Amino acid sequence: MDDFSFSRDPFAAARSIPAVDGVGFMHNRLDRDTEHRDETSIPVMLADSAAGFYLFHKDTLVVEAGATKSDAIRAIFDKGAAEALGTDMETVIILGTDPEEGNAPRLAALISDAAAQKLEGSERYRLESVRTLGLHGLLPADQLGAIAQARGLLNWHESHPYCSKCGTKTVVTLGGARRDCPNCSAIHFPRTDPAVIMLVLHRDETGTERCLLAHHTRFTGPMYTTLAGFMEQGETIENAVRREVFEEAAIRIGAVRYMASQPWPFPSSLMLGCYAEALTNEITIDTTELTAAQWFTRGEVKELMARGTDSELPHTPGPFSIAAWLIRSWVNSREA
Ligand SMILES: [Zn+2]
Repeated sequence: MDDFSFSRDPFAAARSIPAVDGVGFMHNRLDRDTEHRDETSIPVMLADSAAGFYLFHKDTLVVEAGATKSDAIRAIFDKGAAEALGTDMETVIILGTDPEEGNAPRLAALISDAAAQKLEGSERYRLESVRTLGLHGLLPADQLGAIAQARGLLNWHESHPYCSKCGTKTVVTLGGARRDCPNCSAIHFPRTDPAVIMLVLHRDETGTERCLLAHHTRFTGPMYTTLAGFMEQGETIENAVRREVFEEAAIRIGAVRYMASQPWPFPSSLMLGCYAEALTNEITIDTTELTAAQWFTRGEVKELMARGTDSELPHTPGPFSIAAWLIRSWVNSREA
């Protein structure tokens, strides 16, 4: 089997890659400059009057409503506002600096449970789920990337306070990009869990192309989407795609082409979006993962897409997921 047959002509591949506008959490303009950070970085940034904070409570972000209903919401607060909103300054981490705002520091932190409760009755502020912010594009696209970065990092700090080698409480270093053990000197980096997400494509003897869409057991509504799964140790992206598709639908995969990736901070995944060429077309689903899976032509997928995500009939996912991008990019491409 040729693992890389889709990649033989990189120029053709580059030309064919459609724009990723509209995909959530992907765009992040901050300059992280992690390698130049030291123990003074957080205090220096906290003392900078231009510093802006993203404030979180669990999987929600503090946002401020606009002056009028049509005004955009705001998610970046200065230090005074952050303190007034109940920020736990012990949890502050650095995201980076914003080159389009005079290199203003961008930080993230948690607010206390009591502060979150106080916001419940507020007309000016509210807690909005990070997922909803992405789904409905409530903030500028390049802020959503910084929010995904912040959510992933804060999750990791919350869930990894101790050294995995000796059990000692670790300390935050590099402005939040690492945790170091004061006892055994082990250094710990935030984890990112790569997952493959793939649109399986099949071309029959007549040249008609179809894609495989599935309804997953965990879905509450009638949404049909791509297959996906976490990568395993020592596995290439290509083989992870082949394994997952065979496990879930019993279809054999030949060529795999990586297209684009999307941070998915629930809690710390990176979705690796691929097209996969089906060598067989008979579907046998794994009923623990899927309730249904079938082949759809471009025309049939267009009908699903046109229904919208509120429809009670089968439909495709909302535009901000990389699954939806893989689907619409294929639908909009010409049949070979
Ligand atoms: Zn240790």
